Amino acid sequence: MDTAIKNNVKTIYNEDYKSLKELFIDYRATQRCLPSFNVNDNYDLRAVVEASDEMDTHVMVMTYPPVAELNTTEVFRSLVDGFKKGFKNDIYLHLDHSTSVDLCKRAIDSGYDSVMIDGSQVSLKENIKMTKQVVDYAASAGVVVEAEIGKIMGRDVVVKSDNDFLADVDEVKQLFETTGVDIVAVGIGTAHGFTPTEPKIHFDRLQEIAEAIPAPLVLHGGTGIPDVDIQKSINMGMSKINIGTIVHTTYMKHAFEEIKKAGNDAYPPFIMKKVLPKIKDVVKDRLKAVNFK
Ligand SMILES: [Zn+2]
Repeated sequence: MDTAIKNNVKTIYNEDYKSLKELFIDYRATQRCLPSFNVNDNYDLRAVVEASDEMDTHVMVMTYPPVAELNTTEVFRSLVDGFKKGFKNDIYLHLDHSTSVDLCKRAIDSGYDSVMIDGSQVSLKENIKMTKQVVDYAASAGVVVEAEIGKIMGRDVVVKSDNDFLADVDEVKQLFETTGVDIVAVGIGTAHGFTPTEPKIHFDRLQEIAEAIPAPLVLHGGTGIPDVDIQKSINMGMSKINIGTIVHTTYMKHAFEEIKKAGNDAYPPFIMKKVLPKIKDVVKDRLKAVNFK
């Protein structure tokens, strides 16, 4: 994708990236964002790839640890390589929210483009130690490392007050400067999964963090954030957005309905042929929100 035509404004970006690191640095500088989707198997992977191809965008696919464990990192690497052959833009493979240094190492050994070491639930000291271990291991392979600081609400993360989940600017600086990590996920009020009320993004904190460190920042909990907030965040330094919940809930809901309709005749490829367009629709909808420039 070397041109982007939106609202009759034609912007030409340099898209000739030698590496994912280079892409992220350029995206932070030009206030753009790599759409990143959690996938679970070859079917939702196909849906994400086809939707991205039709929208002419680079994309990142991410495996959450249970997905990486069940499929193995080697098999997922091969799956993505298979899809890359027919895709005109780049597809990057990422390990999402690993709390295990060993799993990060396994993904790096399997040829992942990027890994996240999530030390947000442990002390800053321990977080720095874990992150540094992964950064050192990833260095020779040129793999991008994402760290997290502050908390993303939802799942098993319980927070008592704003101060409890918002990333502390000095701590963000310390983590970034002592580890040399490539990209940083910061807690600014977003949540994983569907939330009963709209998540309130603390843009003031995002602003302070973006001024404190030059690293591309990562926005988690992309499913429930209104488009205007996504776009504002991108203009403020969010260079990667994670979108997961809307993919797997759409997948499961429609698979369940189709299996129920087919009863004993349910046959995976026939079911999936009907489910794939539904997943593609939600992926395209999110791609439109992220690639607004
Ligand atoms: Zn996340």
